[in-house]
Amino acid sequence: MFEEFKDKVVVVTGGSRGIGKAIVLKFASLGAKVVFNYASNDEAAKKVIEEGKDYSGTIECFKLDVSNFPQVCEFFEKIFDKYGAIHILVNNAGITRDTLLARMKEEEWDAVINVNLKGVFNCCKAIISNMMRQRWGRIINIGSVIGSMGNAGQVNYAATKAGIVGFSRSLAKEVASRGITVNVVAPGFIDTDMTAKVPEKIKDQILKAIPVGRFGKADEIANAVSFLATESASYITGEVLHINGGLYMG
Ligand code: NAP
Repeated sequence: MFEEFKDKVVVVTGGSRGIGKAIVLKFASLGAKVVFNYASNDEAAKKVIEEGKDYSGTIECFKLDVSNFPQVCEFFEKIFDKYGAIHILVNNAGITRDTLLARMKEEEWDAVINVNLKGVFNCCKAIISNMMRQRWGRIINIGSVIGSMGNAGQVNYAATKAGIVGFSRSLAKEVASRGITVNVVAPGFIDTDMTAKVPEKIKDQILKAIPVGRFGKADEIANAVSFLATESASYITGEVLHINGGLYMG
């Protein structure tokens, strides 16, 4: 089923840690040529390359900020120059700046909107014309259960994740006739550095609300992302795939 990835070029944003890292390693294990970016943590990025060095695919990485449009354009130009195509784009980079709206600073709103939502615009905008000419592509945007459920202390984050759904459905309609699908994978609570910041008391409350009785694993998200990138998933577009252990059934 996954032989098809051996000639595919995959770009994953925020691929140095957590869910992004699992997605990078998944595609590399399936033979793809994977390029990822990250914001600042060089050590973590190096570890991903090291972990994937014996996989059948290849992995390389670049440090850049997805919210910076000129940097994003330069990044994708380099990839096009080297590989001649980008077949699969996974917009995964994301941050949180949690606090109640009453206390939220304008900078905390802007930072989350710029990385989580504008970053998705930037990356899609930078590749879409080439992908349309190619007449085949897969765009998978990482949303969140919070975009559907809402969460006190996350108005900025929830707005970006709900925004990603509207963005993806609109883009799906624009590019469907060119063989490109655009979908959202919306994780629930997954064990990563991002959720490590959640206080233990709140984690216990969340766990009680998850029917499967545990947080998810990054690999469980990567498995779904790789499926959506296959030829077998060519009739799935504009969809939101919730992966949350039953916490939210959309
Ligand atoms: P994470 O462990 O905090 O990792 C975030 C990744 O994004 C890192 O590689 C980080 O690079 C990169 N990044 C951050 N800001 C960036 C920027 N401006 N430009 C480029 N890269 C940037 O996060 P995660 O938990 O794996 O989450 C990944 C995605 O899944 C996010 O979109 C998140 O909203 C979503 N999600 C996560 C959960 C969860 O429970 N973990 C649930 C629902 C949705 P550096 O290390 O260099 O900063």
